[in-house]
Amino acid sequence: MFLTISTTGTPERPATDLGFLLHKHPDKAQTFSTSHGTAHVFYPEASAERCTAALLLEVDPVALVRRGKGKGRGGAPDSALAQYVNDRPYAASSLLAVALSTVFKSALRGVCAALPGRAEAPMPLRVEVPALPARGGAELAGKLFGPLGWTSVEVEPVALDEQFPEWGDSRYVQLTLEGELRLADALRQLYVLLPVLDDAKHYWVAPDEVDKLLRAGEGWLAEHPEQKLITSRYLSRRWGLTRQAMERLELVRLAEADDLEVEDVDNAVDETTDTEEKPVPLAEQRRDAILEALRGAGVNRVLDLGCGQGQLVQALLKDVSFTEIVGVDVSVRALTIAGRRLKLDRMGERQAARVKLLQGALTYTDKRLAGYDAAVLCEVIEHLDLPRLPALEYAVFGSARPQTVIVTTPNVEYNVRWETLPAGHARHGDHRFEWTRQEFRTWAEGVAERDGYGVEFVPVGPDDPEVGPPTQMAVFTRTDKAEADKNKPEAEAETETETEKEAKAA
Ligand code: SAH
Repeated sequence: MFLTISTTGTPERPATDLGFLLHKHPDKAQTFSTSHGTAHVFYPEASAERCTAALLLEVDPVALVRRGKGKGRGGAPDSALAQYVNDRPYAASSLLAVALSTVFKSALRGVCAALPGRAEAPMPLRVEVPALPARGGAELAGKLFGPLGWTSVEVEPVALDEQFPEWGDSRYVQLTLEGELRLADALRQLYVLLPVLDDAKHYWVAPDEVDKLLRAGEGWLAEHPEQKLITSRYLSRRWGLTRQAMERLELVRLAEADDLEVEDVDNAVDETTDTEEKPVPLAEQRRDAILEALRGAGVNRVLDLGCGQGQLVQALLKDVSFTEIVGVDVSVRALTIAGRRLKLDRMGERQAARVKLLQGALTYTDKRLAGYDAAVLCEVIEHLDLPRLPALEYAVFGSARPQTVIVTTPNVEYNVRWETLPAGHARHGDHRFEWTRQEFRTWAEGVAERDGYGVEFVPVGPDDPEVGPPTQMAVFTRTDKAEADKNKPEAEAETETETEKEAKAA
């Protein structure tokens, strides 16, 4: 098992600095013993212009079998001989990834005291892995490394036997990456993606692998288009762990979008004061319509999902019939502002007992949200990418299942009536979609049908005869009062089906 990392240098920054960054001296060949063999680090070339570090792992196949974990992909080896005669000693796999993380530990963390600032800076890199087992082939390898900032990703299938090209390709590829990246980022990508491509791990995947994955995935995994495949394979398709990792990655991603979201809430208010309904801003009309619907349904305990800066929570607190009010948002910044708005820290004990703010992602089922009379999603769904909407539907209507659910969203038909809005523009940059009345109706009726709710539509704001009201609101009422919560086995269904799909495609 073999991989090399090369860089080029300039007179001010000699290529041999790579030795400092990897914490391995270019003039020495060093040997480290790992749990499955011996790792060697040496430099086939080390000049000021060009420097290459090689990591070679000699696997002890007997030790691998003795440890009882020498299996190839897919469980038990085919025969007694296969335990000894397999590709593990040659193919870059999880064994190499573990060796990488052991031998280049500090470099992986991006630490280099000898050259301050250098570890944080991108540098010209070329990585070569001559024999990389790739389940999913060259195409998948390209998809995994493609979005990670390399200027060139070359994946060459390796022929089964060069003498007999008609035999076709083996399951190995030769990988060459080139680009300007931080060394630590390159190492972290390899640490995660080598075993992902091999699709096998030589050790039992314990829950702390989720932490390892998130640490190694920092800065690139949350936005990776193949995130689900990477996570699921890295965690050896343990659905519970995969789900946990995906949920945490979603929080990372949403927290990164935090600033944007909070601005959006500000604008949502501005947008209404800019327009013709100065007497009562639209945001206030929305809150009034929601309060009326909640009172009409006799609600006491209510969730404000995607509560933003807490304006609705504040309005709910003024009415004592709401005995328990829970605001949920993914944005810590929005929740902090909400806390300040509500003066949570100076609130009397009795008031404080009525209100709670929670951080959470609405696209994941959350036990804390079960058992409420009502849930409000005020101007929230349009902030989700459309493909994530079924996950929210499941979490809210399928799992939390309150008696009443109120959803408001912009009516895109009304946009032509906003004088300040250029034609064809959404009301805010972060709206992932805006629906016509018919689109909203179709979605809401589908939800009602699938999840056992009845639904009614209420216009909010001036109901224009031609284009309808600026805000559309749906009030869902559960029709299956007696039915017990059905939030158990389906909870992991999403990950499972996705992986099943992947298994079929492979
Ligand atoms: N309901 C508030 C805020 C609307 S803005 C109001 O009417 O003023 C949308 C809010 O939804 C933002 O605060 C954003 O952080 C939150 N949000 C978006 N996607 C979310 C998700 N997946 N999980 C939880 N909150 C989310």
